[in-house]
Amino acid sequence: MDQFAPTGRLGVYLHVPFCLRRCPYCDFTVAVMRTVPEADFVEAMLRELEQRRAELVGRQLTTIYFGGGTPSLLSVASLGRLLDGVKAAAGERSAGLEVTLEVNPESVVEGWAEQVAAAGFTRVSLGAQSLNDEVLRTLGRNHTGADVRRAVERLHGAGIRHISVDLIYGAPGATMAGFLEEVSAVAIWPEVDHISAYELTFEPRTAFTVARERGRLTPWDDDLLASCFDEVELRLNAAGFSRYEISNFARPGGVSLHNSSYWVGDEYVGLGPGAHSLRVDAASSTVVRRANDRSTRNYLGEEQASFSSEELTSETHLRELLMLACRRVAPLSLAELRSRSGQVDRVLGPHLDAWVERGLCRVVEGAVQFTPEARRLADSLAAEIF
Ligand code: SF4
Repeated sequence: MDQFAPTGRLGVYLHVPFCLRRCPYCDFTVAVMRTVPEADFVEAMLRELEQRRAELVGRQLTTIYFGGGTPSLLSVASLGRLLDGVKAAAGERSAGLEVTLEVNPESVVEGWAEQVAAAGFTRVSLGAQSLNDEVLRTLGRNHTGADVRRAVERLHGAGIRHISVDLIYGAPGATMAGFLEEVSAVAIWPEVDHISAYELTFEPRTAFTVARERGRLTPWDDDLLASCFDEVELRLNAAGFSRYEISNFARPGGVSLHNSSYWVGDEYVGLGPGAHSLRVDAASSTVVRRANDRSTRNYLGEEQASFSSEELTSETHLRELLMLACRRVAPLSLAELRSRSGQVDRVLGPHLDAWVERGLCRVVEGAVQFTPEARRLADSLAAEIF
């Protein structure tokens, strides 16, 4: 039988697509607008939530995540309405429900963080990207390095106990030494318990990609990027952070539950333009992926959000979970996977045997532990899986 059992846990993602301008490296689902149609958007999202209420019950809600775009362009009152709506629609909630808001540093004006904490957010992911004002200008950002530090202090002062800072390496004009200094600077801020260090990627049709194709921009070479990947880990380890995924580092207790839930195959409901969902159909135990239409205009105008969906075979879903496991430090429990699918050994066995042979992972007591080398090769291992 091609069936897959759910983990029983659920995350909810709310996509707020608005940005004041598009950053030159960004290919996310974004609606660039000077004036955000806030009231219409909140009504549309509450409508979608109501229509999909059934998908939120019968699972334990463990995480809620507001991402974008720029969710902090909505008023805290609107964010709170959406958050309350999700909580009311859900069935059982975990005691340690994690509620994350993605925030741009310039949004954290005086008094704002207190409102966010009072609305029920427990975690903030700060889109800093850099502390260097020149690099920030190149990246098309509206804030300064000083804004980042001030935002962290205000969020912590308001009682937000989990603060994550995003940083990007490989930006044009930036140097590895400069980036590592920024990493070290953020790592000693005691308020921060999570750092995401992303390599700049050149996605099709972004302004940076076009500039690179025309020879107007020189990307970092692969050796420099690889050195930076290793050096970041050394610096963060020395400051008490551990890598738990390719780009993510946390102090003890600071791991992002929401991101982790994607990697272990928890179900998630994505609301808003372009949002993705994954659910296990209760009747057939089949895995279904849904993608909402990316158009914000359509989302605001339609009574029912348009979407496409596809049913994944157990084989495809298992391959996806293996691909995600290669990127993580936590071991992949084969026993847990076997309790969810009868296809684990047939589908994953040949890959695991080959990788054990090549020294890329070990299987100990029914759990697969990948090596740092496997994480470095994660993209090429993914190509082997599919
Ligand atoms: S703020 Fe974030 S989502 Fe908006 S354009 Fe910039 S990178 Fe993209």
